[in-house]
Amino acid sequence: MIRSRRKTFLTTSLSVLFVLALVGGYFAYRWYSRSGERTTRLFSWLREPDAHPDWAIQAGQHCGEAPFEMPTSGYIGFLWDDSFRPGHHHQGIDIFGGTEAGLTPVYAAYDGYLTRLPDWKSTLIIRIPADPLKPGRQIWTYYTHLADQQGNSFVDAAFPPGSTEVFVEAGTQLGFQGDYSGDPNNPTGVHLHFSIVLDDGQGQFLNELMIQNTIDPSPYLGLNLNAKQNSGEVPVCK
Ligand SMILES: [Zn+2]
Repeated sequence: MIRSRRKTFLTTSLSVLFVLALVGGYFAYRWYSRSGERTTRLFSWLREPDAHPDWAIQAGQHCGEAPFEMPTSGYIGFLWDDSFRPGHHHQGIDIFGGTEAGLTPVYAAYDGYLTRLPDWKSTLIIRIPADPLKPGRQIWTYYTHLADQQGNSFVDAAFPPGSTEVFVEAGTQLGFQGDYSGDPNNPTGVHLHFSIVLDDGQGQFLNELMIQNTIDPSPYLGLNLNAKQNSGEVPVCK
């Protein structure tokens, strides 16, 4: 009796483990194949951007009825909620200009009030008092990687460190794409990281580093920028 119970317990445990392994394997595979595919395409773009003009969005372009304009030109290599390692969730999109650092301009995607904290070398945030898709709430657009590998800023001279609440219209030049990662020995590819950050309800932006403090930029730019919903298509205006 005891022996058979133990046997049942063992069999059940093994089946559960087997199912868990299958499910885990499935998610690992899906994670790898999606982000792997995007990584492969990104390397093709970075090697030879001129060979793939149809993969690029253009700065200033409006997709359909979407309220924001494209903040820069290039290939959108990584999407919102993409995962660079298990458990990681990318909070914005990465637009790779395909040029050297300091050459591809970055513009405001929408009218708002620009702030650059005193210690921000490569980053800006723009307050949008009324979310165009959800009026009644305030949101923020966050722009980063506007500096070279060593941290020399590419932010426009009009916005020195400590700038607060400077009104900028959509299309105002903010600076240039760069490759600053915070670690001079480990630069990123030249790109703009752009994200939409939620307000804390008290007029301050929440921590951009956590995906739950950001929103899916897809409807704001009129592209499928959600890693979970994009099934492998290159996000460009139709
Ligand atoms: Zn990014």
